[in-house]
Amino acid sequence: MAANRIEYMCSHCGKKETRYAIQGRPNPGKCPRKEGNKPHTWVVNRKFEK
Ligand SMILES: [Zn+2]
Repeated sequence: MAANRIEYMCSHCGKKETRYAIQGRPNPGKCPRKEGNKPHTWVVNRKFEK
């Protein structure tokens, strides 16, 4: 079954996570590059057709 997937990348620490489009954005988590317990800043890095 073909499903669109999206690769997200944190613009602060560079962490990548690939998720199916219907799942929405990854969990905010905790970004090691930010002060305190701040979440990752997810931006769309790549999109996969299947
Ligand atoms: Zn991060």
